[in-house]
Amino acid sequence: MFLTRRAFGTGAVSMATASPATIAPPLRLPPAARPAVALTLDACPGAFDERLAHALADNGIAATIFLTALWIRMNPDGLAFLLAHRDLFSLQNHGARHLPPILGNRSVYGLKAAGTWDAIRTEIVAGADAIYDASGGNPTWYRGASALYSPEVLDPIRKMGFGIGGFSLNADMGASLSAGAVASRIAKAQDGDVILGHINQPLRPSGTGIAAGAAALKRQGMDFVWLPSVAENN
Ligand SMILES: [Zn+2]
Repeated sequence: MFLTRRAFGTGAVSMATASPATIAPPLRLPPAARPAVALTLDACPGAFDERLAHALADNGIAATIFLTALWIRMNPDGLAFLLAHRDLFSLQNHGARHLPPILGNRSVYGLKAAGTWDAIRTEIVAGADAIYDASGGNPTWYRGASALYSPEVLDPIRKMGFGIGGFSLNADMGASLSAGAVASRIAKAQDGDVILGHINQPLRPSGTGIAAGAAALKRQGMDFVWLPSVAENN
């Protein structure tokens, strides 16, 4: 049985102060005894990249998966696979409807921004609820759709109890790169890197590049870890 949902505080962000700029807060891992990276994969709306998920499972490579509620609804088999490998996959919050956490009437990468703090808060809470309902676990990291944020909403999101799921190495540029290009970007990862890729595009070549690049890094002795507890990072 699932226990209670977590309670989220309310907060207010004034639209009047919304700045037009957006930011992508960088994130690296805290220093560790052994060289380590975090592989983080977004499950935006789309399908399940079985090739990538199976390769990670076969190689024992841990990853943090940022799930949207839309993806959870569309991919029951993919969700079941992730849940069957909870030792490898940490499930975190990519929002309910994949609305960028950006204030104002605008779009980024073809995605309409949530627009208001209320809409952003709903996106985050409903995303967390969907993960709780699917897994019984409460996510502690939130990565907004587009990974871009209005600066004004970062602290309110942290006050809701979420770390901001930034990154330091963009491996696939929105799942747009060739397998070879993705693998060579991942091969250059350094100790502490948080690597960003996608697990919702099974028809694109980038997913096989993530699998190959991560396996090569692991063979070289790199540890793959989850994002740390938020308390360490905030
Ligand atoms: Zn996304």
